Amino acid sequence: MDLQKYRELLVKEQEKLMRYLKKQVEEEKRLGDEWNSPKDFEEWAYFTYAENDLSIKARQKLSRLKEVKEALKRIENGKYGVCESCGSQIEPERLELIPWTRYCSKCARRHPEEL
Ligand SMILES: [Zn+2]
Repeated sequence: MDLQKYRELLVKEQEKLMRYLKKQVEEEKRLGDEWNSPKDFEEWAYFTYAENDLSIKARQKLSRLKEVKEALKRIENGKYGVCESCGSQIEPERLELIPWTRYCSKCARRHPEEL
């Protein structure tokens, strides 16, 4: 499996999500010294904002961001691309489309929140 390729896809998605969320927050509230580095953002957004303060779209992006980070962790510890439900390899076509997915396409049908 070409892990490097998926890692790049995930990092790109992560940056996209960060940019989006940062902009969202900046529009509502000025970001001051609280914003240290993009790495801190997820935690910062999570603790600073009551969930209701974020739009539904922003909340979806925040949870996507968490999925992306989890997937990057799985690449690091060698567990990437394995379905969490049935343990089989996730289809490469599916990983290219949704590189942060945790389930193969068969199991994903039983986990509707996973697309
Ligand atoms: Zn599966």
